[in-house]
Amino acid sequence: MIRQFELVERVQSYDPTADEDVLNRAYVYGLKKHGNQLRASGDPYFSHPVEVAGILAEMKLDTSSIVTGLLHDTLEDTDATRDEIARLFGEDVARLVDGVTKLSRLEVQSESTKEAENLRKLILAMSSDIRVLLVKLADRLHNMRTLKHIKEPARRSRIARETMDLYAPLASRIGMENVKRELEELAFAELNPDGRTSVQSRLGYLREKGEKLVPEIEAELVATLKAGRLEAQVSGREKTPYSIWRKMQQKNVSFEQLADIMAFRIIVDTVAECYQALGLLHGEYQVVPARFKDYISVPKPNGYRSLHTGVIGPLGQRIEIQIRTSEMQDQAERGVAAHWVYKQGGPSTDAPQYAWLRSLMEILDKAPNAEEFLEHTKLEMFQDQVFCFTPKGKLIALPRGATPIDFAYAVHSQVGDTCVGAKINGRMLPLRTQLANGDQIEIVTSRAQTPSPTWERFAVTGKAKAAIRRFIRVRQREQYIQLGRSLLDKTFHEEGYEVTEKGLDGVRANFKQPSTDDLVAAVGAGLTGAREVLTAVFPGLKSRPSVRSGSGADVVPISRARKPSKSGDAGRNGAEPAGQIAIRGLIPGMAVHFARCCHPLPGDRIVGIITTGKGVTIHTIDCATLESFSDASERWIDVGWDATSEHDGVYTGRLKVTVANQPGSLSSLSTVIARHHGNISNLRIVNRSMDFFDMVIDVEVTDVKHLADITAALRATPAINAVERARN
Ligand code: MN
Repeated sequence: MIRQFELVERVQSYDPTADEDVLNRAYVYGLKKHGNQLRASGDPYFSHPVEVAGILAEMKLDTSSIVTGLLHDTLEDTDATRDEIARLFGEDVARLVDGVTKLSRLEVQSESTKEAENLRKLILAMSSDIRVLLVKLADRLHNMRTLKHIKEPARRSRIARETMDLYAPLASRIGMENVKRELEELAFAELNPDGRTSVQSRLGYLREKGEKLVPEIEAELVATLKAGRLEAQVSGREKTPYSIWRKMQQKNVSFEQLADIMAFRIIVDTVAECYQALGLLHGEYQVVPARFKDYISVPKPNGYRSLHTGVIGPLGQRIEIQIRTSEMQDQAERGVAAHWVYKQGGPSTDAPQYAWLRSLMEILDKAPNAEEFLEHTKLEMFQDQVFCFTPKGKLIALPRGATPIDFAYAVHSQVGDTCVGAKINGRMLPLRTQLANGDQIEIVTSRAQTPSPTWERFAVTGKAKAAIRRFIRVRQREQYIQLGRSLLDKTFHEEGYEVTEKGLDGVRANFKQPSTDDLVAAVGAGLTGAREVLTAVFPGLKSRPSVRSGSGADVVPISRARKPSKSGDAGRNGAEPAGQIAIRGLIPGMAVHFARCCHPLPGDRIVGIITTGKGVTIHTIDCATLESFSDASERWIDVGWDATSEHDGVYTGRLKVTVANQPGSLSSLSTVIARHHGNISNLRIVNRSMDFFDMVIDVEVTDVKHLADITAALRATPAINAVERARN
């Protein structure tokens, strides 16, 4: 285990401004918090965070990153809290430790590549501060180095698979080739020990055969460059077993000679010298076609720059050569960490600290190769998405701003259609709540539920919107048919006739309707007058001229389509049909609905809004929905309750109630309402916290005064905290 002073010295060796005090305090704090916890290896647990901090020091990261490495498991595994860490080590460190903890909670549940890709995006999106990702990679690297101590083979291979699918590609994406290579090798050893052994034994054989070749080729290359007056470091580097294995898998090739396992690297001082070296080599040796790549003028999306070429080498061997400056070499090894800017005393939010991120963005922006671009899709793209989990851990990607409704429809349209609520990270929250990265969503469904038009306002995915609209269309038609049927019954009865299917069928062609249901629906929607249908069926009757609106004297009683008391869901979608009411100022035969947004009651001041194909919707005069019709005055009609007629109908008033979350509070609520002759037709809990429920209650009342009586009585009930009439 790295000792305290060693760690401080290592950090100070590359960052003389490092805060020694905070490093010491973090070391002691972590040591104390992890106490006598042990790792699978039997080592003290704290050896792990210390090694992680050591890896971060090798990456030459700033003090906050090193401190985060020391503390990265304290939130998850000890009694440390975010507040305490913020107090002791600052908000920057607290945020980083919190970020690493959140990443650690993600687990790959599925092995499908698509999900791994989504998870990679999720991790990038959650690592808005790249240091979170760097600490996570260091954490994973140390866990992979000590993987052998884990006893259960299934767990070992799950961790190795996750490393291969998730963390090695992430390391590559941010340009950290060293970390990527080591992660891959360690995972390969766990996942395919036989494959690795066979590659290694073949490597051993080739190495033996070519033992003398490598120094000879190196010397030859140095001499060739020197002849062109170029000083350079030349070294031979062996490829890793996994990279050879993968090449064999992908290209279905065997490896036969040194060139297959060795690459020679030439390090020079400047970019100009890179091209000079290339020219000298191409002048001296025969070039292997199609092996030349210029990643200096066109860097890889992760920032990698180098020249690659293949030549028939000095000893007649085909060899691969990489030419780069020492700066490019540093970048290739340490990726984004190489861009870290140290600034004395500057907090990490200082703009220069993020210079590397901007340069990375630029590089990603300019990625030339479509395939590579997809592979290394730029960071900011993920900022448009949120990634959430089902209770079983399946990952669902949604556009930013998505709500539980979108999530429900993304899971299955059946789940969407019957959705009544959503638990987000275990808490019941409103369906309009915007989802955040990493949220776990459990959709609560009920077979009695149907999509609500209000959902459309906060659904953002096309799938959810289309499903809701489709449902509303079907439901609306059902309502029109009901209403049309009762209008026809009434009109026919007045003249002593019965509505018959045969009679309607005989005249539907006159109204250009394909079926009798369509004809009835047209009547319900106010497109066709009930009386017109009557006179079509019985042409002997004289048709009465229709009365225009605005006369103010016409009282139009409409028989109620359905009593809501018998059907709790009547009109749940959109406006509910109005019936048995007396409203002045309406056009006879026109469909009338009460708006669901404001639930007008007799006694409220009201106004009617005409909607083509839908009839008139009655709103209260103070309803916020009316604003959207403010520049469509032609659609407003002046209506009022008929004071002369007795309104003995039943209307639905809507209350917003906050009730204490305690035994008996719901029953006292319903008792009070019943005692005042109200009937609860619908009750929905919109918010549930430890101490309170927020709910919306639909109560059947006779008029606005009746509702006011109930409201007053509820307010006087101890278990009830707040009551108000719901508006929108
Ligand atoms: Mn850890």
